[in-house]
Amino acid sequence: MVTPLSVDPDTLDPYRLPGLARPTRYDVRLTPSLAEASFTGSVTIRIDVASSTDLLVLNAAELEIHACRVDGHEATWELHEATERLLVTPPTTVAPGTSTLTIDFTGVLNDKLRGFYRSTYLDDDGVEQVIATTQMQATDCRRAFPCWDEPAFKAVFSITLDIADDLTAISNGPEVERSAADGRTVVRFADTMVMSSYLVAFVVGKLDATDTVDVDGTPLRIVHVPGKGHLTALGLDVGAFCLRWFQEYYGIAYPSDKVDLVALPDFAAGAMENLGCITFRESLLLVDPATSTQNEQQLIADVVAHELAHMWFGDLVTMRWWNGIWLNEAFATFMEIAACEAYRPDWERWTSFGVERSVAFDTDSLASTRPVEFEVQSPADCEGMFDVLTYQKGGALLRMLEQYLGAEAFRVGVSHYLRQHSYSNTETNDLWDAIEHTSGEPARRIMDSWIWQPGYPLVSASLVEGDGAPGLHLSQQRFGFDADVPAGDDPIWAVPVHIRNGGVTTTVLLDARDTADPIPLADPSGPVVVNAGGHGFFRVAYDDTLRSRLDAATLADLSTLERYTLVDDAWSATVAGRLGAAELLDLLEAFTDEREHAVWQAVVIAVRGLGRLLDDGPALDAFRSRVRALVAPTLDALGDPSDDEPDLTGKLRGLLVGTAGVLGDDAGIQARCREWFDAAAADPTTVHPELTAAATSVVAATGDADMYARMRDRFVHGDTPQEQLRHLYALAEFDDEALVLETCEFAMSDAVKSQNAPFLLRAAIANRTHGRVAWEFVRDQWDRATERFPSNTIVRMVESVKLLNEPDLVADSDAFFADHPIEQAAKTLEQILERQRVNAALRSRDGSRLGAALTGDGPAG
Ligand SMILES: [Zn+2]
Repeated sequence: MVTPLSVDPDTLDPYRLPGLARPTRYDVRLTPSLAEASFTGSVTIRIDVASSTDLLVLNAAELEIHACRVDGHEATWELHEATERLLVTPPTTVAPGTSTLTIDFTGVLNDKLRGFYRSTYLDDDGVEQVIATTQMQATDCRRAFPCWDEPAFKAVFSITLDIADDLTAISNGPEVERSAADGRTVVRFADTMVMSSYLVAFVVGKLDATDTVDVDGTPLRIVHVPGKGHLTALGLDVGAFCLRWFQEYYGIAYPSDKVDLVALPDFAAGAMENLGCITFRESLLLVDPATSTQNEQQLIADVVAHELAHMWFGDLVTMRWWNGIWLNEAFATFMEIAACEAYRPDWERWTSFGVERSVAFDTDSLASTRPVEFEVQSPADCEGMFDVLTYQKGGALLRMLEQYLGAEAFRVGVSHYLRQHSYSNTETNDLWDAIEHTSGEPARRIMDSWIWQPGYPLVSASLVEGDGAPGLHLSQQRFGFDADVPAGDDPIWAVPVHIRNGGVTTTVLLDARDTADPIPLADPSGPVVVNAGGHGFFRVAYDDTLRSRLDAATLADLSTLERYTLVDDAWSATVAGRLGAAELLDLLEAFTDEREHAVWQAVVIAVRGLGRLLDDGPALDAFRSRVRALVAPTLDALGDPSDDEPDLTGKLRGLLVGTAGVLGDDAGIQARCREWFDAAAADPTTVHPELTAAATSVVAATGDADMYARMRDRFVHGDTPQEQLRHLYALAEFDDEALVLETCEFAMSDAVKSQNAPFLLRAAIANRTHGRVAWEFVRDQWDRATERFPSNTIVRMVESVKLLNEPDLVADSDAFFADHPIEQAAKTLEQILERQRVNAALRSRDGSRLGAALTGDGPAG
């Protein structure tokens, strides 16, 4: 029904709903039909009206509206699909005070993994079963029912689901009422606390639940498809630990009644912090500890912790508008690491976070990086905020602030902030002000310099004449892979720098271009570690004297993260053209005696990068032999797995086996990997999971068509999500053009869920020798891929285009994306393409020099 409006909708703000009427309570009733992939619904919204109005404006999309009533009287309406708004004109002017708006509607359970959507799985009889589930963030609640779909419009939600009585239904609150008749069951859930619409969730299907764990009065359980209950123990353990830990950390009780952790077969993101009804990809919640790697288990600990951290930071206290999404995610990332560190100290999570921070450094070293926070007008603008700069850089900045203030001072500030703003909405400044209030430190000035300026500093450290003895001089400039990046606005950050020398750690706040006076040193002739602890979000360039003091003899005195940072800074110096590739390889060989996984990971990342600079031939052969020599001593020293060794020892062994087997082309290791692979296929408990995982990669990289068929079979019939995914992604690693193309075709088939297919294609483009054909495939199948895959995964699919470092491929991808922009992720795409040019420049600058050095035709070697 379309009628003329009394108010011209063109005068409305296109992005923000008018605040004249505010919802306070929703009573939502939905009747999904899983077989027909549709639903009918009605919602009654209680609204507070501030001043008389003859137009109510709210959000709705992809819904068919059948009736609207205001205070019981029929109203007319107009649905604007372009602006996703429902404009309701009441029969008479609505007076200030409380009114109710009732809307009847129908909708479709879509396959785009957003709003109210369909997820499917095959049951034990091979019959497809359907689950109806939701993903509302950021602005898709409007696809499930009409609502004021902006985070500042907090309200109480009462959800009622009318379902076939062989199904299970869950939602944010616990079930409080149930009635059955005619083969159907009507389930009503408890009112939620006052919260934003993007946190609403409901799930309907044939589902099982674990027994409830009582966490100091809060019931916790895992909900999953039938037959997967044996994969829930770790998720429950982490969930219970984190729920307790966060209540202590925040000093605030869990703000709702229960926690369901829900494993879904189809999910576009990783997980979602719906209050009390947290949804996950299966691989991020369900795991068999006996057959999974440390990394696969840690992922589950991370994600469970992350989502539970949001129950307070995000759900109880919420950003006013989408510009604040970065702080929401950065903070949950920070807490995820902190909670995981507390859960399993032996996993050394703050140390391994160094790798994630490096991924953020990588993007932030580009001219096309962005400030962490920026003005967001349209909600679509915030889609680009779900990136590495929000999660990893944001998390690293909070870690830097925490380390500067002290962990307890930081915690007290956070707790104060959450108490002060419970059940309401905030701006970013509110957190800094709360921390400043409790700590007395200039949190806002420090953080403003980091979140409003793109990039990060390179801190240069040198010895200068001081008061009687040499002192330390520090200066800062923006770091960039391209020499052009630091030019321009010449930013200055307020950099908290920890310095260790002579057994003493001092902290300075470098908030000018240079230190005015030399910083006194306890031992002016000893080693100086700048960025002591390794938590700062900056890189360090030492002068020759200071650099020479951090030699093999002093490496052992550095913490693991400090050594990691040295290697990582060296690799980035090579990418930036400050350190030759051949010199970098020499430097990496100083780490032959290293025994820590995190440091080796930095070494392996650098070695892999160097390998990408070489063509097949004698130089690559020489490089492979250097790689074998680099890892052999540590691999020998580690020996065979033992039952009582630390998890990180097993993880290191797996990393080195994979490196020797693939990059090192080590025939002996490859033969052992085939044995491990066969043994694990027969009985996964007979081989250490880290070796099974490494062997899967090595066997794929060296395997033929028969092995390919076996691998694919293990993907289809794997016992756990982890086993399935390991074999799926290994399909991208075969060194055979036809098999890589087959993998690409496979990704487009129904056998691979749309939540995984983009990542399989990404892995295929990253194939060292056949990335080219995979890229050409994706390019040629672009329309099919963008139609089939969730919108947020499209840019992830082409992330590895940055590795295609040959000039013709740079030109090809530039030309292609000029015609095929990814509008929902324009910034990220720009960054991928810039990084591709940086990698191509690195190859043309250093490839032949490295080759010459390796074959003895050059100076270094
Ligand atoms: Zn999050």
